[in-house]
Amino acid sequence: MLDVLIRGGLIVDGTGNPPYVADLGISGGRIAGLGSFEGAEAATVIDARGLAVAPGFIDMHSHSDLSLPSHPRARSSLLQGITTEVAGSCGWSPAPLKGEVAQTVLKMLSEGLLGEVPSQIAAGADDGSGPAWHSFGEYLDYLDKHGIGVNLYPIVGQSLIRAHIVGLDRRPATPGEIEAMEALTRACLEEGAHGLSTGRSYMPGASSSTAEVVALARVVARYDGLYTSHVKDESGGVVEAVEEAVRIGREAGVRVEVSHHKAIGRENFGKVARTLALMEEARREGIDITCDVYPYSFAQVFSLLGEIPGVTPRGAPDDVRASLGHPEFRERAANEVRKAAARDGKLPGFLASPHHYLIVTAGRDADLEGRAFEEVLGIEPPGTKKGPPDEAWSRRLVDRLADLLLEQDLKLHLAALMSEDDVFAVLSHPETMVGTDAFALDRELGERTPVHPRHFGTFPRVLGHYRRSRGLGDLAGVVHKLTALPARKLRLTDRGLLARGGWADVVVFDPETISDRATGKEPYLAPVGVEWVIVNGVMAVERGALSSDRAGKVLRR
Ligand SMILES: [Zn+2]
Repeated sequence: MLDVLIRGGLIVDGTGNPPYVADLGISGGRIAGLGSFEGAEAATVIDARGLAVAPGFIDMHSHSDLSLPSHPRARSSLLQGITTEVAGSCGWSPAPLKGEVAQTVLKMLSEGLLGEVPSQIAAGADDGSGPAWHSFGEYLDYLDKHGIGVNLYPIVGQSLIRAHIVGLDRRPATPGEIEAMEALTRACLEEGAHGLSTGRSYMPGASSSTAEVVALARVVARYDGLYTSHVKDESGGVVEAVEEAVRIGREAGVRVEVSHHKAIGRENFGKVARTLALMEEARREGIDITCDVYPYSFAQVFSLLGEIPGVTPRGAPDDVRASLGHPEFRERAANEVRKAAARDGKLPGFLASPHHYLIVTAGRDADLEGRAFEEVLGIEPPGTKKGPPDEAWSRRLVDRLADLLLEQDLKLHLAALMSEDDVFAVLSHPETMVGTDAFALDRELGERTPVHPRHFGTFPRVLGHYRRSRGLGDLAGVVHKLTALPARKLRLTDRGLLARGGWADVVVFDPETISDRATGKEPYLAPVGVEWVIVNGVMAVERGALSSDRAGKVLRR
């Protein structure tokens, strides 16, 4: 008696070999076999004739570790066929979480990404409750206890490690601090982390020297762990940034994954040809360095409201409108712009390079959507002279930003722009894997927290738009890229393939119709064509709808 019998589907087993028609049996969470199950009985029978049966998709780059405590069912991931997510990306992870500095970092991060701080992190010393976990192991225990919808492959974030030892200081770590960070990294690996991630352009991790990262990566290498990196610069300095990742791989002897690889901004389009070649050269030298990508030509979506120095986007809309319209507020914001420019030698945030951005969503004028932000802003650069912009210019800038927001009913969402040709070049490279760069969502976030369509659309978009319409490759080759290829990089020996004895992570989809539907304007639209998703032998999606089970496992190192 089988638990599940999938009858007559086109088996695309992840190896890249030609698909064939067969039955697939599942028993005790594992794949019982492939072939003919004539006369076999099963608790659940799926008629998969005309559908593809593949290993569950492996998301090489997610931030789901931050959302799973408050979005445990992982609806957005499962509906697109993801069964395993690598998380703890870009230097961030929800643990370790000891002390106020780490809590501050995680509060800011959750606020920015989720629009709220999950109660598990928010709990403070005031009421004596404290957060729901402190150590990395306790965080994983928490997930085990409460259950999660997908399998989680946890990595620890270097920014959290640094927050514990160095705090938020923007300075190189001392030798003693590096030793303490090595010890904390080791503890996290011992407690289940598969590796370390860095966010080389995000604070506080960005203050680390290459040597400091190499020291921690050496600890990871001793455990044969994985080092993933949001590299230093994804625009003008992207080639040098990938060179640094190669150097870390070489000096630490660690396996490297370059995260969400891209080149932002028109003047940098085409540079991925150089970075892909750099990684190929490094692999010939024996360094295990690869990359992943999300299948969209625009990056993280953010609200202009959160980018104006001095604005608190959390207030009631009427209060925010009143602030934006008030001359005194505008004066203050203009001063903030000048102060930041004087301190950092450039304008704050995305204002330093407004020509890299496009408007994704506008609150009132739909014709603004898809337009270059700089052109809509319509303000000449502050000039070529050194030093911060003058008062009049700063005020003109803030006036224009505030007016734009008021005109668009406070809603103007922007994103950095990549080249479609570059996205295709990276995606089609045989060693490139796919990552959502999303976090699992069970429900919609608040009005003010923009969401990228990749949360719901990534994998169906690769199999639909890129495979069928752009000619990415044959079905078997593309499925390999989404399953066995990442499993090999992750050293997951019993997932990523449809093979007897392996864990039964399975997705049944229609190769002719599978498509993403989510857009910048409607990011929560579920994809179509994903019919059944099975996680560890348990039905997670049935006929395109989420079941109530939380069948995922924490995949500890
Ligand atoms: Zn990142």
